[in-house]
Order: sequence, then C-alpha cells, then structure tokens
Amino acid sequence: MIVDRHGRQFRNLRVSLTAACNYACTYCVPNGKRLQAAAHELSSAQLLQAVGLLVDAGGIEKLRITGGEPLLSPKLEDFLPGVMELGLQDVAMTSNGQLITRYQDLLLSSGLKRMNVSLDTLDADAFPKIARGGDLNTVLAGIDLLLANNWKLKINMVPMRRSNMDQVLPLLKFSLERGIELRFIELMNMGHLKTSNQYQQDFIGLDELLEIVGQEFEFAQADAPYDSTAIRYEIPGQGYFGIIANESAPFCRSCTRLRLASNGHLYGCLSNSTYQDMTPILPLPVPQALVQVQDMLSTALTHKQDLSFQGEVTVMKFIGG
Ligand code: SAM
Repeated sequence: MIVDRHGRQFRNLRVSLTAACNYACTYCVPNGKRLQAAAHELSSAQLLQAVGLLVDAGGIEKLRITGGEPLLSPKLEDFLPGVMELGLQDVAMTSNGQLITRYQDLLLSSGLKRMNVSLDTLDADAFPKIARGGDLNTVLAGIDLLLANNWKLKINMVPMRRSNMDQVLPLLKFSLERGIELRFIELMNMGHLKTSNQYQQDFIGLDELLEIVGQEFEFAQADAPYDSTAIRYEIPGQGYFGIIANESAPFCRSCTRLRLASNGHLYGCLSNSTYQDMTPILPLPVPQALVQVQDMLSTALTHKQDLSFQGEVTVMKFIGG
C-alpha cells in the first residue's frame, strides 16, 4: 500500500471513458463545442487493462465511470461489464442522464446500481442555457426509470449566482421527494473560469447555500465517510443533502481520488495538471507493468495539494469529473 505523509492513499479511481460530451455546460466547456473527444483516446480494452493494473497495484476499492459523458461512448458496452467483473467494493457512474432511457438495457442488465446524475436546473427554459445541449424532460424520464429499478441516485448541482441560484430549493425538494441525495458542488475555479471573471461572479459558497436551505428546512450535520468529498446534512424525517465545498472547506487532506483520463493520462489531483501517461506500459508483460504502475502511484500521490484546492487550467471534461 502506497501512503503519503498525510496518510493519504488512493482508494477511489475515476475513469473518463471519453472527453466527448453531448452538453457544453457554460462552466465546464470553454468554447461551447460539444462532442469533442480528446486526442488519442484509448479503446475500451486498453482502458480496462489500465484499470486492471491500477487495481492490482493495490488500494483501489471504488471506481466511478465518468467523462465527458460516459453514456455517449460506444466503449461503455464492453467497459461496463469488464469493470463489473473486477470484484470492486463499489462501482458507480456520473452522467448527465440524457441517454439513460436510450441505453436502459445495457444499464439495467449490468449490475450497476448507483448513479450521480448532474442536473443544474428544473427550469426548462434555463436548462439549455446552462447545458447548451440536451433536454430536461429526457433527463427526468431517465431518473424515473432508474428509481423504478431501485437504483440509488444522487443529483449533482453546481449552484451559480447568475443562472440557477433560484433552483437550490426546487432541486432540493425534488430530490427529497424521491429519496435522492442532492449534492451541491461549489463552482470550481478550473479550465476557462481560471482566466475569466466568471468564477468570481458566479461562485456561491457553503455558508450561503446553508442559509438558502435554512429558509425552508431545519437540518443538522450528518455522518460521512472519512474520505468523503461532501459535508452531509440530514433534514429530519425527509432525507439528506450534501455540499462539496472545494473552496469553503477543502478536503485535500483526506482525498483518496485518482483519475484516469480517456487518453491514458493518470492524474493524482484535480487541481494539478501534471499527469503520467499509462499508454506506453500497456504492452508490457504484467509483472513489469505492475512495477511501473507502483512507481506511477507513488508519484501521483506527490501531485496532490496539501491543503486546499488551488484550481487549474485543466478542463473537468478532459480530466474526468
Ligand atoms: N457528463 C457527466 C455529467 O454531466 O455528470 C460526467 C462529467 S461532468 C465533468 C462531472 C461533474 O463535474 C458534473 O456534475 C459537473 O457539473 C461537474 N463540473 C464540471 N465543471 C465544474 C466546475 N468548474 N465546478 C464544479 N463542478 C464542475
């Protein structure tokens, strides 16, 4: 087991199947260009091989399939069953939910049972202005379908002052009514936000979010796993919500996340654009490859921030959100 001086190790692996997305969310995709994959994306077989090496090198217990938009990638058909066979403690997916109904057969037969659906507004007019793609009702139908099949869902919402602040309470009520745990994600100063004033204009922090929730609900802080990115709250008798407070209450000291991008680049930290390329080691005999992966994991740990999220020019859809 590789552990750093803060006692951190990698337990959670996020794999970006593709950088292509059918949305171009204003805060994530700089030029509004949808469907743009990364150069030299790996095949599903190569991604599975890389994941297998990372798991065998030790420590990885949980895996999240993300992107880009994972449901957009034809690789999912082979990747998903392959990953489910690895015997990990937990496998989940983060998706914008637009293609859940279309790929319901694949999803429902896979054994996967958990999804985080990103949904920033329930307002059908505001939806295309934020997502710059997709259709609200299709996402809602996807959510209903998974709930009807007993999936455990979370909704990810990025509250922003100028576009969806009015949706904090509606999305919370929507989630509570359906037994979904809502996650407010504080806007992260990444990608094009880093070089514009969009971040400063739109950022809403933990305290303000709690104040808004407090206008209608009583809540108390609840338990969360030690390496959870979210601070969780219970609304007695109604359910839970969480806040991923990258800025207001950074969780770098207990971060156990490792990211594999769709082009084989391995990132130890969302806030550090330094990466290591796994592609050249994939053709090696497994014992040799594993030695190199161990080295890569030790190096990736040194890329983690000590204290707080600094922000990076890396774009979430490339590094794997
Ligand atoms: N396409 C999938 C989806 O929409 O969930 C997975 C990829 S997306 C990059 C993963 C998550 O990252 C989404 O919940 C999105 O809202 C979030 N995200 C992207 N850029 C962000 C930023 N600058 N700050 C906070 N969250 C961001």
